[in-house]
Amino acid sequence: MNFWNPYLETLPREELDKIELCYFKRTFSHAKEYSVLYREKLEGIDLRDVKTPDDIKKIPLTDKEELRRYQEMEPFPYGGTLGRSIDEVTTFRQTSGTTGKPVYVPETYESWQWRIEVWCHILYMAGFRPRHRVFLPFGYNVYVAFWEAHYASEKLGCELVPGGALDTKGRVHKIIEIRANGMMNTPTYGLHIAEEAKNMGIDPASLGIERMLCAGEPMPEATRRRLEALFGCHVFDHIGGTEPCAWAGMCEAKEGLHIIEPFFLVEILDRETLQREVEEGEIGVAVVTPLGRRSFPLIRFNTKDLVIKGRETCPCGRTSRKIKEVVGRTDDLRKIRGVLFSPKTVEAAVRHEFPEVVEFEILVERKGIMDEITIRTEVAPGLSGQEIDQLRARLRENLKVKTNLSFHVQMEPPGSLPRYTLKAKRFKDMREIRND
Ligand SMILES: [Zn+2]
Repeated sequence: MNFWNPYLETLPREELDKIELCYFKRTFSHAKEYSVLYREKLEGIDLRDVKTPDDIKKIPLTDKEELRRYQEMEPFPYGGTLGRSIDEVTTFRQTSGTTGKPVYVPETYESWQWRIEVWCHILYMAGFRPRHRVFLPFGYNVYVAFWEAHYASEKLGCELVPGGALDTKGRVHKIIEIRANGMMNTPTYGLHIAEEAKNMGIDPASLGIERMLCAGEPMPEATRRRLEALFGCHVFDHIGGTEPCAWAGMCEAKEGLHIIEPFFLVEILDRETLQREVEEGEIGVAVVTPLGRRSFPLIRFNTKDLVIKGRETCPCGRTSRKIKEVVGRTDDLRKIRGVLFSPKTVEAAVRHEFPEVVEFEILVERKGIMDEITIRTEVAPGLSGQEIDQLRARLRENLKVKTNLSFHVQMEPPGSLPRYTLKAKRFKDMREIRND
């Protein structure tokens, strides 16, 4: 069986569109009735005016800042974002707070089960099956994705091994000890586990991992392939967030990500106006409406994720819409010396062409009136001085071609750059202090 839900995953396009419009209306009226945020935001918009997908485009977007603002109200800590009575809430989650004050996310048992079901689609699509013993190399804390991965693995029939309260070396030992054959992690942490295993004299490919699901950071294709080569396994990507849930995942064809329909209505809008739906192959901002979560309703949530719209057919037979690639966050796109710059371009180049680079960090500073960009680079031990000089020159040249910017290349001693377990922060723009 190739599908977790053969009926939903192969519905004709027109059927999916019909169902999503119907679910959207239901979400709209629930939100307007139960959440203070949407009672105020949707005032003056009547459900009877929402007859076609075009009508949906007239409804205002929701952003993170609004969620934060409405959470200042009672009842603590969810305030006006609650879509059910606070007594029905059974689980507390929150965002990581990397861009400011965290958003608190209430889940009732019903809403939580909805999230788990979405995750079953993502895991099954990535080939996870009951034969897999899945190692989750993290302490979960209040962060939603690990809990979702945990419970969805159980629901799917995998055997889940929680890997909290261990250091990376301890986790490598645990993988070997219990013969784990599946893993879920950030791309950065996957690379770090491989590095640590090598330091211990263990080839990561000998660990026996067959399948890896990645999340948490935009993953360039070069990084995905590097992980596949290091572990000798299949690596899959997915995208989501704490507020809307994971909303798209990679199937075994590994050609972009399927939107999990009809659980989400996903619009990909041009980033200048945030109004027009972009064409296939074009870049846009993902705007997501989860179509079944009542405890924390969201309507047209601006994820600030930049994605390239994909084609609508896939060799796997699923009929859902696809995104071709996750480009990054709108927050990460910067103008440097007048050139539009995305940190993902540097990661793609480094992972693809410089296997000797173990870790790196990009620093943008203003010196006088000029912006200066530096890549701090940590290389594998054992390179000679001459090899390091050549590497420095190759990096400078390669990055100049890829980004149109001249980089300072700074070499750092082994182990000096930070290793991230959750979201990597390799890009530091020191020119401004932002408060979003
Ligand atoms: Zn597919």
